[in-house]
Amino acid sequence: MSSFPRVEVSLSKLEHNAKRVVEVCKPLGIEVAAVTKGFCAYPELAEALLRGGVQMLADSRIDNLKKLQHFSVPKILLRIPMISELDDVLEYSDYVLISEIETAKILGQKAAQRGKKHKVIIMVDLGDLREGFWLDDVVEAAGKINGMDGIELAGIGTNLSCYGGVIPSEANLGNLAGFARRIEEELGINLSIVSGGNSSSMPLVFDGKIPSKINNLRIGEAMLLGRETITGIERENFYNDTFVLEAEIVEIKEKPSVPIGEIGVDAFGKIPVFEDRGIRKRAIIAVGKQDLQPDTLIPADKSIIILGGSSDHTLLDIHDCRIDYKVGDVLRFELTYGGMLWSMTSPYVKKVFIP
Ligand SMILES: *Cc1c(COP(=O)(O)O)cnc(C)c1O
Repeated sequence: MSSFPRVEVSLSKLEHNAKRVVEVCKPLGIEVAAVTKGFCAYPELAEALLRGGVQMLADSRIDNLKKLQHFSVPKILLRIPMISELDDVLEYSDYVLISEIETAKILGQKAAQRGKKHKVIIMVDLGDLREGFWLDDVVEAAGKINGMDGIELAGIGTNLSCYGGVIPSEANLGNLAGFARRIEEELGINLSIVSGGNSSSMPLVFDGKIPSKINNLRIGEAMLLGRETITGIERENFYNDTFVLEAEIVEIKEKPSVPIGEIGVDAFGKIPVFEDRGIRKRAIIAVGKQDLQPDTLIPADKSIIILGGSSDHTLLDIHDCRIDYKVGDVLRFELTYGGMLWSMTSPYVKKVFIP
């Protein structure tokens, strides 16, 4: 396999970022589940996060949880499960997020057959409109699930800023805390987990504004890339270059910035639009949409402009760069969440883990 493109992952930077998240969460009584789905749950990377002190691992896919079995920490299945995968859910997860009574019932039956109880975290939709019981239904659903054979109602949780873009706040997470208290009172049980969301809840943690009842967060992006989707936590001493994509230049030429000839559609059926910037120096790197979308690349050289790409080529404007790049040079890019996810998934991108 050729050396490039490759994604270089710094294990020590991952560990540092994990440590940063854990050290701000701990004083607030919050345990951290590190979310491994952004990097296909490579065990070497999960291990770095565990060295950073995270208390659990979490992933959306059973296939990924399978890779993490040798770690002794509890594992959470993040995606509400398919009924068809419940046997694997029992086998490979300790906790599962649930938003359907029917799914819980079948899971419970299967667990009971094995003489076991499986831990369930009930998801509450606080308005983001992805998964979760709607507000009026939460307490009743908790009652039903709590009474099921083979099920231990371990907690409740929510997910925000994923589909609807709803920002976590003292108010909506306070609402989750309120539901936790009501369930505990009405059912006479103790919920061991109140899971207050993903990386987008980190600003509340940094500002000390997260409701005290919240005792768990499921953190991916903040830890992996030192970013979170809404306000940015870059100020809080995180590494953003934990994952770096390296790609080799295969062509450098001066060309017009607008194509010549009648414009139809591009390789993906879209009608392309061009800004006329005159004749510009351009580079082609040998990485393309089979690996990642061009707009997920963040050039280390800030003078590089990403123009676009096709399946196997990404086009760059290097006209304003101070460095005199040559064919064969390797360019480095930080990655957005999507870029990390795609480059870690693409079989064409080599993975290199550095200490
Ligand atoms: C992906 C995911 C997370 C982690 O999200 P980040 O923004 O990467 O922190 C948490 N919870 C659920 C249910 C998820 O699917």
